Amino acid sequence: MKIHEYQGKEILKRYGVQVPRGIPCFSVDEAVSAAETLGGPVWVVKAQIHAGGRGKGGGVKLAKSVDEVRELAGSILGMQLITHQTGPQGQKVRRLLVEEGADIKKELYVGMVVDRVTQQVTVMASSEGGMDIEEVAAHTPEKIHKVSVDPVNGLSDAEADDLARKIGVPDGSIAKARVVFQGLYKAFWETDASLAEINPLILTGNGDVIALDAKLNFDSNAMYRHPELTEMRDLDEEDPAEVEASKHELNYIQLDGNIGCLVNGAGLAMATMDTIKLFGGEPANFLDVGGSATKERVTEAFKIMLRNPNLKAILVNIFGGIMRCDVIAEGVIAASRAVGLKVPLVVRMKGTNEDLGKKLLADSGLPIISADTMAEAAKSVVEAASKV
Ligand code: ADP
Ligand code: MG
Repeated sequence: MKIHEYQGKEILKRYGVQVPRGIPCFSVDEAVSAAETLGGPVWVVKAQIHAGGRGKGGGVKLAKSVDEVRELAGSILGMQLITHQTGPQGQKVRRLLVEEGADIKKELYVGMVVDRVTQQVTVMASSEGGMDIEEVAAHTPEKIHKVSVDPVNGLSDAEADDLARKIGVPDGSIAKARVVFQGLYKAFWETDASLAEINPLILTGNGDVIALDAKLNFDSNAMYRHPELTEMRDLDEEDPAEVEASKHELNYIQLDGNIGCLVNGAGLAMATMDTIKLFGGEPANFLDVGGSATKERVTEAFKIMLRNPNLKAILVNIFGGIMRCDVIAEGVIAASRAVGLKVPLVVRMKGTNEDLGKKLLADSGLPIISADTMAEAAKSVVEAASKV
């Protein structure tokens, strides 16, 4: 789960990380009164979308008067902001953060992720913060310093100070950098974050260490423990098909291909996508209907897949364990009728009541292509999609 920069900064502030004074806004009028409340002489108007690279895309602008704040807020709000993380269609800006302009002496970088190999949190820091950290990672990786943090002890003073020195924080500011690193680590740990990033973390003219940007992603599976974080969710920023799917307890992820997949069980869904790719096809989605897929849920799943304009064919791959194949077949038939299915549909079923399920499909009169093995099913669906 992702949140906005201003929400990330609210969280970091609670952990003692210094952030600029700022106010989130939903309209030009709100932006103007935010600027008046904050006072000048310099403000920054920042688009709030769940994607980075806003600065380069024209979504972060400096203002030197309240009138300029009004002008910039008017042009940024409602714009379709395109960054390297939004894709070519961009993302519509619905919220702004108006904050005080900071006195930037140096832009640094600090980020944290869960490292699956060490099973610890890795802290990464660099002297080369700002808008091009991806370039630094690609071309001068030696400028990124890492610490793997012992989960029992947390990030120690010595580790934090050492990291600060390595990225060029002057002696007088080391203690302030330590507060930021340890605060960020504690926030990461306590919120079940999967990624935390401050880019840039700045050194100011008077030696302060301030988070100018904040990115926090959380482990969605842990959000039941954090209702206050779940409230920060902004559905406007999420894929509408995925939001719809979550309402029906379907695990759906939109992908770039054209072959829809409806599968029960995440492992089988992954294997199905691999098999489609093996035969030269591209999955349009990941979809796990779960172990207790009812007729209604299968119908919803079909509707969600069919929203995708790229969809050329569908593969249903079901293992009937607790779930019986005849029930799934009824669901598939009802759903195909309900949605007036126009794309080719390949169905492969194995397990409990398989024969009965297959008979129901054959007797339905629907143009369903039946397949016996995964390979046969994948081949058929790839072929069907290429003909459309
Ligand atoms: P993004 O990473 O999406 O481009 P940032 O929040 O990092 O957005 O802003 C981009 C750049 O704008 C920063 O690297 C910094 O140079 C500048 N900037 C951002 N916030 C402020 C601020 N409050 N005061 C001064 N400059 C800022
Ligand atoms: Mg940034």
